[in-house]
Amino acid sequence: MNKPSIYGLTLEQLTGWLGERGYSKFWATLVWEELYRRRVTDFERMTEVKPEIVQLLSEQFVMHTLSEHVKQESRDGTVKFLLRLQDGNLIETVLMRQKYGMSVCVTTQVGCNIGCSFCASGLIKKSRDLSAGEIVEQLMNVQLYLDQRGQDERVTHTVVMGIGEPLDNFEHVSNFVRIIKDHKGLAIGPKRITVSTSGLPEKIKEFADSDLQVHLAISLHAATNDLRTRIMKINRAFPIEQLMEAVDYYVERTKRRVMFEYILLKDVNDRREDAVELARLIAPRRGSSSINLIPYNPVDEHSQYQRSEQESIVAFYDILKKNGINCTVRLEHGTDIDAACGQLRSKQMKKDAADRKQVTAG
Ligand code: SAH
Ligand code: SF4
Repeated sequence: MNKPSIYGLTLEQLTGWLGERGYSKFWATLVWEELYRRRVTDFERMTEVKPEIVQLLSEQFVMHTLSEHVKQESRDGTVKFLLRLQDGNLIETVLMRQKYGMSVCVTTQVGCNIGCSFCASGLIKKSRDLSAGEIVEQLMNVQLYLDQRGQDERVTHTVVMGIGEPLDNFEHVSNFVRIIKDHKGLAIGPKRITVSTSGLPEKIKEFADSDLQVHLAISLHAATNDLRTRIMKINRAFPIEQLMEAVDYYVERTKRRVMFEYILLKDVNDRREDAVELARLIAPRRGSSSINLIPYNPVDEHSQYQRSEQESIVAFYDILKKNGINCTVRLEHGTDIDAACGQLRSKQMKKDAADRKQVTAG
């Protein structure tokens, strides 16, 4: 059996694990600092920690279960990593340079069962959830890449918006958040962490009741059930009324604002009447939400959808603004490098398969 990644333990779990073996919290904190502050890349470099503890850790855990398969660097500074898991599956992680800092987008599942009609990630059914360690490792992979550049750059923000539905992998995603938030470690503030969901009402309520206290983004993409069901089949199981009831509960419980994500698909959900419907739906939640309009990144397999024209985006935005709704248009990152989540992976898998064929034929 493969050894688990040490990055999968919360500080509390590490303290418990070492405690059971007779070592005090002091040692757990020291190991934690070696991992996340000094950011050593293998156990032998944990020079601050007693050798017998290092020995114990290296017998039971590994530090790196992911390996880099492909890395694409965009002209705007975006870096996309295609990483190979121990079982051979590929996942994506993206580093985006923003005005306010360095943001990383992480993957939470291998594939996605929600299967939204516009998304490249949903093309491949979920084969498994990622462990907390595999999600933390993605972030560490990026942080170590920055460390190697030697410019003292830190990952400051995290968005859980890569492949997969995070709330369908609730426990591991929650532990991931606990690990990266920990103020003795990476200390990424809860206000700088956003989890995006396609909208699972019961899970949203559980999320609201949890200790995580991070931001929530809802992939809305349509304001009526007819339209939303057409583009996101999950809406059949959880219609907009049920979703909004959970969102209202989240706001009430956490006193936080939610962000609604709305991809603009040409002539599908970007018409004036769609903006009016959206304004109507969000108006009662004006004070507690904002809308992020997302220009669609075309996906080869979903050729029925195209990106909205610039004029439609502006007109849509204006209608929302006139209705007093907080609204932004998402700036794009790395459009020259297969930026939409799941795209690099699906393209690379096709390419790898073609290469294998060639090798077999040759
Ligand atoms: N499963 C979660 C999180 C991952 S998807 C969710 O759906 O929220 C993250 C965001 O990217 C979602 O808002 C999703 O709708 C959006 N997205 C998916 N495919 C896209 C594409 N081709 N272009 C632009 N945004 C896309
Ligand atoms: Fe899954 Fe999100 Fe893509 Fe929908 S948009 S298929 S929920 S990853």
